[in-house]
Amino acid sequence: MNNRALIESLRENRELPSQDYKTLLSTITQEERLYLAKMAREVTDRVYGKEIYLRGIIEFTNYCKNDCYYCGLRKSNDSVIRYRMTEKEILAACKMGYAIGMRTFVLQGGEDPTYDKGLLTHIIHTIKSHYPDCAITLSVGEKSKELYQEWFDAGADRFLLRHETATESHYEKLHPSCQTLANRMRCLRDLKDIGYQVGAGIMVGSPYQTIDTIVTDLQFMSDFSPEMIGIGPFIPHEKTPFKNEPIGSFDLTLTILSLVRLIHPHVLLPATTAMDTVRKNGRLEAIQAGCNVIMPNITPPRQRENYKLYNDMAELRSTHSIGIHEINDLLSSSGYQGVTSRGDYKKEIEV
Ligand code: SAH
Ligand code: SF4
Repeated sequence: MNNRALIESLRENRELPSQDYKTLLSTITQEERLYLAKMAREVTDRVYGKEIYLRGIIEFTNYCKNDCYYCGLRKSNDSVIRYRMTEKEILAACKMGYAIGMRTFVLQGGEDPTYDKGLLTHIIHTIKSHYPDCAITLSVGEKSKELYQEWFDAGADRFLLRHETATESHYEKLHPSCQTLANRMRCLRDLKDIGYQVGAGIMVGSPYQTIDTIVTDLQFMSDFSPEMIGIGPFIPHEKTPFKNEPIGSFDLTLTILSLVRLIHPHVLLPATTAMDTVRKNGRLEAIQAGCNVIMPNITPPRQRENYKLYNDMAELRSTHSIGIHEINDLLSSSGYQGVTSRGDYKKEIEV
């Protein structure tokens, strides 16, 4: 089969033999990539229409007890000015986000145990009592099942925990030995059992990634069937062991996003900020390739400037309110519409 036939087969069957994913990933031409993106966008339109869901992300702590080799917040990076937002500051960010239409708040941070003993539970309760019409997404790393349950009971709806890579030998090259793929996977299963809408995902072009590891990731995402999938290019951070590694390919990221959409027509697929960092209006191209979520940053600028997972975040160059207006203008001038509903997973729609 040629690549166009493979793409059509994937759209029909939502899966391909691993050899065919390999062929596509290694031989796809620019023209075929645009064809793949068009198919992926058509499928997205059938499930979600032209609506793009907006989530307000609040980076509420940059303390992290982990030492992932790729991330600027790793504990060994002692040049970071660390901060924790108080409940009051987080609520003020939610208030501002609500006023500009956000109906999902994403609380993201390093793995910071300070919030584990009731503090985050209290914050979730308070946000839910002020904004019962909003969804809360957590992205705070690996915890016990009991703690995930406590936060779910307090009102958290969704949880983002990228698996980073489904290949153990690759995972070991990205993390110190105390961080294991087995525990990452245990967390993802626990989150799903509890009833969260769960997000997995990878960085494209992370060091030691190969076509084979990407195929294993596609198969994992197909089998595990997460409600959300976060995918963006790897971008080196100057204060990490991977500082001299190359940036992940923008076009390969688009290809993988489109493949994910065809494998998983209903998935909530964000056009990540990292896409804008590596290419101007990269998030718009990601939407044209099948993404249906954007996560404007509503962290106050004072904290945001110290939350650097990688070098030169695009969002740092604009204030939050300009960001959201720019995003809305960009979307509407391209035929999409930024909507501020809760934007839950739509599994019931036939495709
Ligand atoms: N501490 C939490 C959430 C914050 S990190 C966690 O690790 O799950 C969120 C995501 O940022 C990570 O999952 C990783 O995929 C991504 N990330 C970290 N460093 C990056 C880098 N250098 N380039 C691109 N993405 C990165
Ligand atoms: Fe911490 Fe997450 Fe960065 Fe790893 S990726 S160092 S867990 S903030």
